Amino acid sequence: MAELPLPVRDDLNRAYWDGAQAEKLVILRCPACQAYTHPPRAMCTTCWHEELVPTEVSGRGTLYSWSVMHSKGNPGFEDRLPYAVLIVELAEQKDLRVIGNLVGGQPSDLAIGTPMQVVFEKVNEDITLPQWRIAAADGGVR
Ligand SMILES: [Zn+2]
Repeated sequence: MAELPLPVRDDLNRAYWDGAQAEKLVILRCPACQAYTHPPRAMCTTCWHEELVPTEVSGRGTLYSWSVMHSKGNPGFEDRLPYAVLIVELAEQKDLRVIGNLVGGQPSDLAIGTPMQVVFEKVNEDITLPQWRIAAADGGVR
């Protein structure tokens, strides 16, 4: 069985993956206009400033969209079937979205706008994945 494909760090995404390894959700932020940019880019997508600063965010957001995978067509994911791939809009900024998987809960519990909370799945010594749980109404995790 194929191994789970894992992220490869590069100069742009290093702060995101290093942050995840430290169990922090880290997004590049522009010091000039304060906008967050994700996926990581070399410059601010709002004002084109070129020195973005890795910034820890709250790890809270709402479900923007999702899809449930049932197919064995993606090598390495067989053990996880079925699994939900989520697009979560972070609380810090409209249209600031990250991708992850649902951890705990059932895809049938999902609806657009569902409050979500980041959790961290340690895969090995080098890679920890930001994943998502449904957040309880009191801000906790259920
Ligand atoms: Zn900017």
